[in-house]
Amino acid sequence: MNESTITHKRGESIYRIKRTESGNMLAVYGPDKPMFDGEEHTTPEGTYKLCPLSAPNSKIIRKLFDFTNPISSKGHDATFGLGDRLGIASAGHIRLIRDTDIFPILAQQSIRELNLTNRTFDDVLAAAVWAVFREGYTKGYGADGDHLKTHDEVRHALDCGYTMITLDCSEQIRNDIPSMPQSEVDAHYAALATTMTSTLESRYLGKSFPLGDGMAVEFSADELKRIALVYLNAIDHAVQVYFDFIKPAGADFEVSIDETLQATSPQAHYFVASELSRQGVVMMSLAPRFIGEFQKGIDYLGDVSVFERDFLVHAKIAEEFGYRISVHSASDKFSIYPIVGKLTGGRYHIKTAGTNWLEALRVIAEQTPCLYREIHAFALLNLHEAKRYYHTTENVINIADLDSVSDAHLHDYLDQEDARQALHITFGLVLSAKSEDGTPLFREKIYQTLHKHEAMYFTALQRHIGKHLNLLKQA
Ligand code: ZN
Repeated sequence: MNESTITHKRGESIYRIKRTESGNMLAVYGPDKPMFDGEEHTTPEGTYKLCPLSAPNSKIIRKLFDFTNPISSKGHDATFGLGDRLGIASAGHIRLIRDTDIFPILAQQSIRELNLTNRTFDDVLAAAVWAVFREGYTKGYGADGDHLKTHDEVRHALDCGYTMITLDCSEQIRNDIPSMPQSEVDAHYAALATTMTSTLESRYLGKSFPLGDGMAVEFSADELKRIALVYLNAIDHAVQVYFDFIKPAGADFEVSIDETLQATSPQAHYFVASELSRQGVVMMSLAPRFIGEFQKGIDYLGDVSVFERDFLVHAKIAEEFGYRISVHSASDKFSIYPIVGKLTGGRYHIKTAGTNWLEALRVIAEQTPCLYREIHAFALLNLHEAKRYYHTTENVINIADLDSVSDAHLHDYLDQEDARQALHITFGLVLSAKSEDGTPLFREKIYQTLHKHEAMYFTALQRHIGKHLNLLKQA
C-alpha cells in the first residue's frame, strides 16, 4: 500500500502517516516515541511506534506541531465550513482548498450530529488535526462548535480548543409572537420595562437606517414591538455568552437566528445586529434565516430572484455592522452560490457538511454494491425515525425500487433528489445501527470501503465541493 509522502521532523524524531489494512496510523521514529500511545515495531531499518489516530495522540501532536492547532479566522474574507461526519474527509477537503484564499473550518459539528454519530468534540477536532498533519497543511484552519445552545456546551467546546462558537439562539427566540393577535402583542409589550421600551422607540422609530445603494431599514411601531418581543431574550443570551466565554477565550463568534419558523426580516436582522453591537458584542458572522427552503442534500427551493433581493439586504446589514453573513445548510444549494459570491463581494461564511456522506455512499455504491444495497434498504426502513430530527420533503414513491436497479446503476440514487434526502438524513442511524449481538451493522464496513478506496473518495469530494467553490466565483 502506498504511504503518505509527507514526513514531519522534530529534532531527531520522524513522523509519518502510514496506511495499514485497518486504517491510517501514525508512525513515530526516534526519541519522541514514548510520548505516544501505540505499539513498537521493529524492522531492519530500526524501530518505530505505530500509533492510532486517536484524540489523545492528536493532543500530543498539537503540542509538538503548532500548525495543527485550529486558529481564529480573523483577517480572512471567505470562510467555508466543511463538516466531516465520518472524520475521514478533511484530507480531501484540504487538497481542494489549499490553493485558494478560503479559510476552512475543518472541524464543525453540532451537538445533534455529535449525538447522531456517537462522536465527541474531541473526536471531531482530532480528525481535523490528523488531516492537517497528514497533508502538511500550514495555512491555518478553524474549529466550530456548531449550533451550541447552552453555557455548558460553549464552555466544553472552548475547553477542547474550538476557535469558533456558533450560538444557536432558537430556544430564546419567541416563535409564537409573529402570528399573535395585536391585542396580545400589545399586552406583552406593555409588560416590558417602560425605560427599555421608550429607549427602543427613540432608537428605532421615525428613523431610516441607510444601507447604501439607496436601501434603508425602517421600523413601524408594530414591527418594533414584535421584533423586540421575539428577539430580546435571544440578544440577552448572546450578550451573556459572549462576555462570559467567547471574549475571554478570544474565539470567533457567530450568532445563529436561522432556526425560526419564518424568514428573518431585514428589520429583525438589523435590530439584532444593532443591539448586539451597541452592547459591545463583536460578531464574526451572523446567520439569518433566508427566504425559501434550505433542505438537506438538495438545491435551494424557492424563487432565486426573490432570494437575491432578500439576500442583498441581509448582506448589506452584515457589511454595515462589520461581520460576514453566514449561510447554513449550504451543501448542494448550487443555484444561490453565484448570488452569495457576488453580493458579498467575496466576504461570507458558508456551512456545508452533509455532502461528505452522500459522496461516501457514491463510492460504496460503486465499489461494494452489496453493502450499498443493505444501507439503502435500512435507510428507507428507518426514514420515519430520521424525520424526527430533520425537515425534508422527499417522496419515497419517487425512489426506484432497489430490486429494479442493477449494480452498475446504484450510483444513480445519489443523483436523484428524493433518494439523496432519504440517504442524507438517515446517516446517523446507519452509522449507529447494531446487529442482534451488539456489533455495528455497517460502520466498520463503511470505513473499510472508504479506506480502501480513499483516492476515489477524495476525488468525489473534490468534484462535489469544487462545484460549490466554482459557483461562488461566478459573479
Ligand atoms: Zn443553522
